[in-house]
Amino acid sequence: MKEEALQKARQLDEQDQLSKFRSEFHFPQKNGKDCIYLCGNSLGLQPKRTSEFVNEELQKWQKWGVEGHFTGDKPWVSYHQNAKPYLSKIVGAHEHEVVAMNNLTTNLHLALASFYRPSGIRSKILIEKGAFPSDFYAVHSRIKVSGYDPEQNLIELEPSDGSDYLSTEEIIMTIEELGDELALVMFPGIQYYTGQLFNIKKITEVAHKVGAFAGFDLAHAAGNVPLSLHKDHADFAVWCTYKYLNSGPGGVGGLFIHEKHGRNTEMPRLSGWWGHDAEARFKMANQINPIPTVDGWQLSNVNILSHASHLASLSVFEEAGMENLRAKSLRLTDFMEELILNSEVLNNQIKILTPSNHEERGAQLSIYLTNHGKSVFEYLIERGVILDWREPNVIRVAPVPLYNSFTDAVNFVKILEEAISNEG
Ligand SMILES: *Cc1c(COP(=O)(O)O)cnc(C)c1O
Repeated sequence: MKEEALQKARQLDEQDQLSKFRSEFHFPQKNGKDCIYLCGNSLGLQPKRTSEFVNEELQKWQKWGVEGHFTGDKPWVSYHQNAKPYLSKIVGAHEHEVVAMNNLTTNLHLALASFYRPSGIRSKILIEKGAFPSDFYAVHSRIKVSGYDPEQNLIELEPSDGSDYLSTEEIIMTIEELGDELALVMFPGIQYYTGQLFNIKKITEVAHKVGAFAGFDLAHAAGNVPLSLHKDHADFAVWCTYKYLNSGPGGVGGLFIHEKHGRNTEMPRLSGWWGHDAEARFKMANQINPIPTVDGWQLSNVNILSHASHLASLSVFEEAGMENLRAKSLRLTDFMEELILNSEVLNNQIKILTPSNHEERGAQLSIYLTNHGKSVFEYLIERGVILDWREPNVIRVAPVPLYNSFTDAVNFVKILEEAISNEG
């Protein structure tokens, strides 16, 4: 690693309009120093303001007890409303199309209950081969619960030409081939393993053309890349908020339901009292009257401490702006990729699985170690570089534009080079 790279990185950090946000976050420490944290795709860092937001609710509880439901400027009974203005910008939707609730997999099951209703030959679900296990389990079990055979009805699409990722053309062709046997297409926004960003608009368009629904798992896309779920006509989307959205471990999940379905109170769904007409809720009348928005899919009253933590981080996103974050993210990930590809030490020792076209990826590079194993990852962790390991031989690094710097990228690549050269 050349001294020039470090100088260049320092210069880029100085010019970076978003560099001030780094000080908004707590960094884990190792050997008395801030870690080089490249794991925001797994668990985002804690914003310093999170404790204020959570403490505010703890104090409200101390002071008011149950009255907190109706007291103060953020009464608990409608606390979920607070996130909507922020979330709607992050996923590109109307406020009445997004809500934070439950966790990702729970929300996926709720969406599947409404959007996977097989009948006759229209009974298949298309997903990508190598989908995140929880998504696979969710669709597999939903097919079974519906009385259909997952072996026949769960189609896993694999790249045809030995490529590491799927082309949009392959996806489109498969959807067209499946035609009226297809009930639902479910794809990630960004694939967790390869880091590939999928074309939500195109996939949705073709799914609709053959009469299927299109749903998306945005676990790795929400807060990472700009999205436009409403304009792209996605039927539903789910996400978690503890990755790029920094809501904390196990933080509340998110759900998008397009308004064309939200308005339809006849849409079959699994119901709970929080999805029902808020005015009538406490009359306890047991009359079914779903809220005619995404809120109609809510089950339970709001998990306030988790929502408070979520809201704290959303307020940081609001200040930074998704478009600014994406602009920096493209530069930062490109910069890191260039350092890796230009490194003589890493040459022939690694292969980047993530698409090289930066329009087809977010803030992630998945690096396959050709000749080395997990000891490289262990060396990095020991030296204070936090990233994640995926079997068989992949390290995933996420240079997050909110709190990572260009200098982080240089330091990471330097330590990766050390790890590889030490092993010879
Ligand atoms: C992180 C992640 C999950 C996690 O699901 P939870 O219900 O939040 O535990 C699910 N699917 C994908 C694609 C993920 O990346």
